[in-house]
Amino acid sequence: MNNDIRTVKLMRRSRLTGEMMEVERKEIRCCGQWLRCDDFTTTCPECGADYNMSGDLLAPRNQWGEETGEHWCDCY
Ligand SMILES: [Zn+2]
Repeated sequence: MNNDIRTVKLMRRSRLTGEMMEVERKEIRCCGQWLRCDDFTTTCPECGADYNMSGDLLAPRNQWGEETGEHWCDCY
């Protein structure tokens, strides 16, 4: 699958200092809409594809664990 990725800059208030700071987030275009990769995993509401914070497409959830032998919750 060939997806478009762009980087957006957002202003966020730092939890440490309370000051506004600029952070970069990836946005991935999937099914004609831009999804912001703001969380550990971002899921397209249209097709259910999962992306990580770098905008990389993750393997379908039903394949998780088959390749690594680990349950996906182990990463928490
Ligand atoms: Zn999609």
